[in-house]
Amino acid sequence: MADFDVDLFVVGAGSGGVRAARIASSYGARVMIAEEYRVGGTCVIRGCVPKKILVYASRYGHDFEDAAGYGWTLPDVSFDWPTLIANKDREIDRLEAAYTTTLERFNVKIAKSRAVLEDTHTVRLLTNGERVRAKTILISTGGTPQMGAKIAGVEHVISSNEAFHLKELPKRILVQGGGYIAVEFACIFAGLGSQVSLVYRGENILRGFDDDVREHLRGEMEKRGIQIITKQTVSSVEKVEHGYDVCLSDQTSIIVDKVMFATGRHPNVTGLGLETVGVKLSETGGIAVNEYSKTSVDNIYAVGDVTNRINLTPVAVREGHAFADTVFGGKMTAVDHANVPTAVFSEPEIGVVGLTEAQAVKQFGVVDIYKTSFRSMKMAVAARATRTFMKLVVDGTNDRVLGCHIVGADAGEMIQLVGIAIKMGATKADFDATMAVHPTAAEELVTMREKAMSYGRAAAE
Ligand code: NDP
Repeated sequence: MADFDVDLFVVGAGSGGVRAARIASSYGARVMIAEEYRVGGTCVIRGCVPKKILVYASRYGHDFEDAAGYGWTLPDVSFDWPTLIANKDREIDRLEAAYTTTLERFNVKIAKSRAVLEDTHTVRLLTNGERVRAKTILISTGGTPQMGAKIAGVEHVISSNEAFHLKELPKRILVQGGGYIAVEFACIFAGLGSQVSLVYRGENILRGFDDDVREHLRGEMEKRGIQIITKQTVSSVEKVEHGYDVCLSDQTSIIVDKVMFATGRHPNVTGLGLETVGVKLSETGGIAVNEYSKTSVDNIYAVGDVTNRINLTPVAVREGHAFADTVFGGKMTAVDHANVPTAVFSEPEIGVVGLTEAQAVKQFGVVDIYKTSFRSMKMAVAARATRTFMKLVVDGTNDRVLGCHIVGADAGEMIQLVGIAIKMGATKADFDATMAVHPTAAEELVTMREKAMSYGRAAAE
């Protein structure tokens, strides 16, 4: 051991890396962590946290409108983007400081530098050339926006990274992509008053989500005035006198003030020396790891988005923790990646856990579907047309709930709790036996009795 400067060297101080460093240290390991940008990583610095702050801001517009239905008369309201951005930045600074303090409290040495692997036990810090010998190395470098093919004018296009620092709110913005980030930012900008066009290459947004959820959200986004253009891609972006002329694959063009691509994220695997030390990549471009997050090199591990498994903060945190338990805590711990609940902070919000209708039918054959769409009490009085959607996907042979899909206010909060029930193997009968909380929207989850659809029953009987 004397041979090594540290027991653990962590490359990347995001959600996964910070958790791993802290827990490893609590087991007595000597830990060093390198971060080339800001401590906190994507989630804290330019992802979940600042995004949620913008989401909160964007929802006030509708809240002010809804207030009228409840008897409130408000003076003319106005919105100031620079105030929002400054307040958001202050909160991010606070969180970065808190993350740094936590690491220091756990005696984790922080190197503000890019780190490159020179051999399986040596990491070089690029800021000062220092070489650190480590018994174990953890790579938790996250991911970075990928902008797709090099179309003409791509240099004018921003990613979500820059969207957090715009000097002013664009009056007109075009967002390309149909995933989490595109949908969330389209709703944020629309809520704040921008005119938004969302361009997606496929048939419908949010590929991989339940088809009813995709349809429902699309309808709600369109009701809010977001223009959704499908089966198109952006083929060029040209700077013109007042904004940008965006040409689509069908040769139509749209003039906007900003163009943002949210066309996926790529694992940060380049320039780390991975090839030099023999760390192999998976087919999806992330670092290939086993169930304990070990790479193809015995003493090198990887967690979080850089492994391209499920790219969500809580998953990275859990993987980082499990790695530390396994390597430094003497407890072999594999992360269970099944039934991970997730939310899309669109407007309205999506919360899902488990299988979609199509996945369940494919995997289980005999499947019952329960679903409902309704105008919540709050929306009825507010006289807004927004509808909530809920669906339960049930295994028809043993009554187990395989999936739950919600589109509506607070869907993210609801799905966290439904996630526990589904993880425990709850049946539809368990849902039915649970007393409703009245009057709430969530009570619909325990009061759906009529099957909307049954698959495979005749074949099974
Ligand atoms: P996603 O993978 O979710 O979506 C990428 C979108 O871009 C898809 O609609 C994809 O289309 C489209 N696309 C990809 N390449 C091209 C191209 N060359 N031209 C045109 N369109 C293209 O990535 P995001 O960037 O939205 O998000 C990255 C990850 O971050 C997510 O997977 C998610 O795990 C995480 N995230 C989670 C959030 C949350 O938990 N609320 C919020 C934000 C991000 P197609 O569907 O056809 O492939």
